[in-house]
Amino acid sequence: EYKGMSKERMMEIRRLNCNPMTMKVTSYKKPVFVHQGFMQWLWDVDGKRYLDLFAGVATVSVGHCHPKVTAAAEHQLRRLWHTTNIYIFPTLHEYCEKLASHLPDPLKVVYLTNSGSEANDLAMLMARLHTGNFDIITFRGSYHGGSLQTMGLTSNAAYKYPIANGLGCTNTMCPDVFGGPWGGSHCRDSPVQTIRDCGCAQDQCMAHDQYIGQLKETFATSVPSQIAAFFGEPIQGVGGAVQYPKNYLKEAYKLVRERGGVCIADEVQTGFGRTGTHFWGFQGHDVIPDMVTMAKGIGNGFPMGAVVTTPEIAASFAKGVHFNTFGGNPVACAVASSVLDTIKEDGTQQISLNVGTYLMMEMAKLRDKYEIIGDVRGKGLQIGVEMVKDKASRDPLPPESIAEIFEDIKDMGVLIGKGGVYGQTFHIKPPMCITMEDADFFLAVFNKAIHNYMERR
Ligand code: PMP
Repeated sequence: EYKGMSKERMMEIRRLNCNPMTMKVTSYKKPVFVHQGFMQWLWDVDGKRYLDLFAGVATVSVGHCHPKVTAAAEHQLRRLWHTTNIYIFPTLHEYCEKLASHLPDPLKVVYLTNSGSEANDLAMLMARLHTGNFDIITFRGSYHGGSLQTMGLTSNAAYKYPIANGLGCTNTMCPDVFGGPWGGSHCRDSPVQTIRDCGCAQDQCMAHDQYIGQLKETFATSVPSQIAAFFGEPIQGVGGAVQYPKNYLKEAYKLVRERGGVCIADEVQTGFGRTGTHFWGFQGHDVIPDMVTMAKGIGNGFPMGAVVTTPEIAASFAKGVHFNTFGGNPVACAVASSVLDTIKEDGTQQISLNVGTYLMMEMAKLRDKYEIIGDVRGKGLQIGVEMVKDKASRDPLPPESIAEIFEDIKDMGVLIGKGGVYGQTFHIKPPMCITMEDADFFLAVFNKAIHNYMERR
């Protein structure tokens, strides 16, 4: 039972003493005052239980306060909290070896940070030092961080400030087979097909060719002939679980490397088994990046991030001294190490695949039933549901309508996310411990919320 501060008092403190921007992410009319979490559940201060299908933007990987991970943190808190990387201590070494064993050759050198922005900042620096080039390309609609440098990688007006940020960053067209002009049914790797036909020939994907054409145009017009890097998420997260045509990333990597650049996979959302078919999202594209950046799920919500790269790139970076006071601290390493064990022991990647595929197939039935559900996409438990005015136009459902449905779902006891460039996409990225029963509960709630909205219209 909750006996702490009142809701009114918290709201007052929020107005006076807290970052006023953070509530914009949900903008619930009646906010959720969370108090406790366990596995896929959150409880508010009134004791109401919510099924958490957003997990702080795909951050809680194995479950809120997972007993094994909590025990690992407690154990480490009693032994050693803090020392930096300048001394040698076991948890860091155990973890770096364990994390590296989850990555293919030659990705073996691990740098630990405290967040995704820090990891991407570091990756930008390393790419520039290694290649001697400056320019970096990312997709429009992407989110890679909010620091001065990563704000340039990020391509979403909501997260941009009118200052000189991210010098040398160029955003290229996101190869979105639903929202973009090209692509359709068979272009992407998802259990659910899009509602429109792709018009591709048997073994030639028109969307792939068109979007690669756009990338080539970016190379020809917007950057020097030699570049430093290309950043891409295997499935675009904040941008709305956007999936690219099959083989797009493979071809893009080739073109980037021809221009002297390194390829960086941002696995902050897609890593650690979330896509179900693979441990890393990039494996679903049959590519091996030169650098992988990670955060969020790496620590199941404990602040942690990492860059994993090749020995060659690490050697180019070794000319200066890189220092991070808290990156790879003993507690974070103990937590992250336990997360890797737990993913294996609890079979969360398989859960992602089974429950995620089931959810998407059932959601596709709702898409076919309701005019305002335009697209259901993703892999595993990285799912996006694109809301439209109507299927023919594919215009985004307006923010007021999205907000109504979103609030209704929350009031019925389920927390999901919303994103996409126009705020038109619902996000389902739960802790990877959810069950088929949870999926059914959500499907009933979602159906009801859409039904209610259609009745009110
Ligand atoms: N990359 C991706 C794909 C993300 O989704 C985010 C956060 N939403 C980040 C990087 C930045 O991570 P952080 O908030 O830990 O800095």
